[in-house]
Amino acid sequence: MAAEQRDMKVPSVLLPVCPVCGRPMTMNLRADDRFVEDEGWREACARYEQFLTQNRDKKVLFWELGVGMNTPSIIKYPFWQMTARNPKARYVCVNRDLAYAPEPIASRSLCLAEDLNLLCDLAD
Ligand SMILES: [Zn+2]
Repeated sequence: MAAEQRDMKVPSVLLPVCPVCGRPMTMNLRADDRFVEDEGWREACARYEQFLTQNRDKKVLFWELGVGMNTPSIIKYPFWQMTARNPKARYVCVNRDLAYAPEPIASRSLCLAEDLNLLCDLAD
């Protein structure tokens, strides 16, 4: 699919479809009640929780790349809260339109108003 990409677009015939009904597949986003939390998701969630618990009081960098305000309770707010709870933690936010940290963690935060598209050519 990447080889067929032109101007950030791929031919629609290459888009994956549901093997059951033939409708176009979509990303698994918490946008509605169709978000899938299957066994693989639960295992990954448990690994993430374990990592956070094991490193709760260590030097941790919460590095947020391009996270908007669609579902801030998934990444942004937890990163802010975990940074606030751990004095050794740092928060870095790279976001073209929303590079911001709340005042309680501002002195331990680096907020860069940059467009992440500048990194796209690194994948070539
Ligand atoms: Zn289907």
